[in-house]
Amino acid sequence: MDYLPLFLKLHDQPCLIIGAGGIAARKIDVLASAGAIITVVALDFCKPIREMQTKYKLTFLKKTFEPSDVNGFKLVVSATNDTQINISVAQVAIAKGILVNVVDNPALCNFIFPAIVDRSPIIAAISSGGGSPVLARLLRQRLESIIPHQYGKLAQLAENFRQEVKNVIQQTTQRRIFWEDVLEGKIAELVFAGKQQQAKSELRQAIADISRKSAIVGEVYLVGSGPGDPDLLTFRALRLMQKADVIVYDRLVSPAILDLARRESTKIYVGKQKGNHSFPQDSINNLLVDLAKQGKRVARLKGGDPFIFGRGGEEIVTLMENGINFQVVPGITAASGCASYAGIPLTHRDYAQSVTFVAGHMKDDTIDLNWKQLAAANQTLVIYMGLHGLLKICVNLILHGADKDLPIALIERGTMAQQRVFTGTLTTLPEIIKPLTIQAPTLIIVGNVVNLRAQLKWFNDSDNSHSLS
Ligand code: SAH
Repeated sequence: MDYLPLFLKLHDQPCLIIGAGGIAARKIDVLASAGAIITVVALDFCKPIREMQTKYKLTFLKKTFEPSDVNGFKLVVSATNDTQINISVAQVAIAKGILVNVVDNPALCNFIFPAIVDRSPIIAAISSGGGSPVLARLLRQRLESIIPHQYGKLAQLAENFRQEVKNVIQQTTQRRIFWEDVLEGKIAELVFAGKQQQAKSELRQAIADISRKSAIVGEVYLVGSGPGDPDLLTFRALRLMQKADVIVYDRLVSPAILDLARRESTKIYVGKQKGNHSFPQDSINNLLVDLAKQGKRVARLKGGDPFIFGRGGEEIVTLMENGINFQVVPGITAASGCASYAGIPLTHRDYAQSVTFVAGHMKDDTIDLNWKQLAAANQTLVIYMGLHGLLKICVNLILHGADKDLPIALIERGTMAQQRVFTGTLTTLPEIIKPLTIQAPTLIIVGNVVNLRAQLKWFNDSDNSHSLS
């Protein structure tokens, strides 16, 4: 971090502006809104600044700048277009330990002005470290549009009841959960709708309800985190990940996605490695129940969609048996994600009227699938967990009537920057990938739609050179 953001109390503090053009006017405006007492040194004062004089009680000194002018000021802004003056302002201010900003010259500053979103008392400050003020401003515009204008009122309401809530709910986690419900729920909506009084009485009621109730119980969010690219998370997934006290995650949940979880959350890995079932399903189910009973909000993150080869159903049953509240958040399943990023539509009016998802996972070295049905024409077959059984899958499909030249694709680490796609036919693909080191996870797509990739490929796969299509 090149700059540490701090929020400075400037109320009634003497601040000096050198220069009185348009840029100086903007700095005066922002300093005045923080309550500063402002003196302006310049030879000419532009109209907007003259108009501000009464409103902001500005002191005007009509003179050329001299180093002694900075004496007694807490903060100085040099907004002249005279490089020599700017340098001398910076030098004298820095020597005297005064905060100094030279407009458009970060090298001469010991502080810079951020782009500000003001919902006082909530204030967001954004900086590009002087590198790209336009980018900082664009980000500010985005925040302006997503933070409701009444947000400050919400903060005031919270402040007014802060101590009272503290007295009623001593435990910090529970207090945080209470406040999150208030600030993201019905009470917040009332404030945003301008119904301050109603919001206040609802909040009073909520506090009274808490003092009557015993401990707050936790809940579990069963969240599909998609196939890997964090941009494919749903809004709800992101919101719940940022709310959770504990994140329980699988091997398929990418580090980039985990980075988006609440910073203070505890992260528990329960992934299974092939042949190493160190964390049996029962223990995961019980872990979720135990955490929720401790009052925690638990986000159980799963790759793809929790209800597609995700054993989400089993985890929910245990939660239900234990009376734990939960919700399920769908995710983009690997089939959708990989197909899109590989440029292979799963259905197509000419080539595939249906699509079937199957697990190619081998139990005792056998794959128990309805081959005859899967080998039929005019459909797409998506095989999860199929890499190790690839040869058997291809052989069985051909044995049960599929064309030996039917196109097939293997997608490695789909939707991620490292995505690779290997294409071939039922006869050639096992041979193509045999000599290669393939990284999990991989997905297989079988059907004539695979040929469309040649035309529709759009995502920049890191390597496609092994393709034989
Ligand atoms: N619930 C998950 C599937 C879990 S089963 C979902 O809906 O996607 C695990 C299998 O999913 C892996 O063996 C692999 O076949 C597939 N898979 C998951 N993510 C993948 C990815 N990014 N690229 C390729 N295959 C993936």
